[in-house]
Amino acid sequence: MRQQQAAGSRQSRASELAALIREARSVVALTGAGISVPSGIPDFRSPGTGLWEKVDPMEVAHIDAFHGDTRRFWSFYRPRFADLDEKLPNGAHEALADLEARGMLDAVITQNIDRLHSKAGSERVIEVHGSIATSSCTACRASYPLESVGELFGADGVATCACCRGKVKPDVVLFGELLPEPAMNEAQQLCAGADLLLCVGSSLEVYPVAGLPELTLGGGGRIALVTQGPTPYDRESTVKLDGDVVDELDAVLTAL
Ligand code: ZN
Repeated sequence: MRQQQAAGSRQSRASELAALIREARSVVALTGAGISVPSGIPDFRSPGTGLWEKVDPMEVAHIDAFHGDTRRFWSFYRPRFADLDEKLPNGAHEALADLEARGMLDAVITQNIDRLHSKAGSERVIEVHGSIATSSCTACRASYPLESVGELFGADGVATCACCRGKVKPDVVLFGELLPEPAMNEAQQLCAGADLLLCVGSSLEVYPVAGLPELTLGGGGRIALVTQGPTPYDRESTVKLDGDVVDELDAVLTAL
């Protein structure tokens, strides 16, 4: 009985969100680590999820760590990138790609570096934390696609530029680095102009991304949350779906 009630209220919240999507002229999605958890990519903020248990992310994923101990930095990132490269998008990524294909979603802004939105078929993806797709030389800015970075490693375990021997760094935003300005500007414009900001799998706690929903609210738009656990926007959201992201978005698409 209780399960039936839960299923019933999920259905009504999914219908409510479907109605908001239908009514809105401009819908933008903002996604975080939670959307990639069903693809087998743990959220490092969740305790007990393996990878980040053994290392302090502030220590290894910090720009100072890259410059200070580049070999250790790459010894962590090289296998991680290879692992991420093999992951596949899940139903939640596919649901957002489907919404865009139907003309009901303008863009996806993501904090994730895993490229799973693009793999799922989303066309307009703004990666505010960068992505694993490329690495760049910190001296001459030469850019290397993921599949050719492997050739840049010397016996010392450090990737160096084929042109100038400078240090090569992945184009992901590390702790201690600013977010890429063009991507953040685009994200801010999209959020300020959105009638509905669909926040999926993000705890909305990490600034400056955590300030994006404020822009939508300030422009008179609404916020919908599809995420497990509390967020600072729970009270200001019009609807919150807090079950599994794949199930919830599946129910929303069915209700459209
Ligand atoms: Zn170079």
